Amino acid sequence: MGRKRKDDACSRSGLVLLLSMILAVLTLNSCDMGANKPLFTVEPLPYAETALEPYMSAETLQYHYGKHYPGYVEAANRLTRQSRFRGKSFDEVMAQSKDRPADAEIFNQVGQAWNHAFFFKSLRPKGGGLPQGRLADKINHDFGSFEKFKSKFLAQTKAQFGSGWIWLVLDGEDLKIVSTANGDTPAAHGLKPLFVVDVWEHAYYLDYQNQRIEYVEGVLDHLANWDFAALQLDGNLPVEETPQHQ
Ligand code: MN
Repeated sequence: MGRKRKDDACSRSGLVLLLSMILAVLTLNSCDMGANKPLFTVEPLPYAETALEPYMSAETLQYHYGKHYPGYVEAANRLTRQSRFRGKSFDEVMAQSKDRPADAEIFNQVGQAWNHAFFFKSLRPKGGGLPQGRLADKINHDFGSFEKFKSKFLAQTKAQFGSGWIWLVLDGEDLKIVSTANGDTPAAHGLKPLFVVDVWEHAYYLDYQNQRIEYVEGVLDHLANWDFAALQLDGNLPVEETPQHQ
């Protein structure tokens, strides 16, 4: 009996030791995985590639979602993994690489990866129309009317020289329309993005050639996902409104 108890105790402590070792290895691995974890993954496209036609063709999405976007994600992950930005969050990378010429590539690639995920969610089939709820109230209050908001968004598009993004953002309590160049993003300027249109040529050239304003008008009138923008504003859908587009 005495011998057996001792053997049991030995095998128990052996088991505990073994489990401890396994736990230590798992912990080390997960720490390592934390630092190696890619900053971005390619987010799924929330609709079919053909679903935005005729305002944005399947061919445009095949290139834009299928090739440009994963290219930015790959570059953002590779550049952060190989640099002092390894393991840092999106906000940290943007804040610490901003206005540093030596970090311009990482700033733009990381911004592009984030901006594209946000852009594809800013669109939806049978979108456009008028925003609802508090977003509609705020647009009317801050711009005068939805039509005035739209004119201002198009004027900002016209004024954007070269590649970039036109955003509806929240600046403190106020809605604003701003543009960013290249891969720049509102988070780098303390602004909260609600909605965006990509105005890089790769976003529209197959469908609209040089007609950039017509492209942005097509997005605002037929593709804009105002429920997504309202969700950014409120953190949830306006209570009195449910999505009308199925
Ligand atoms: Mn793009």
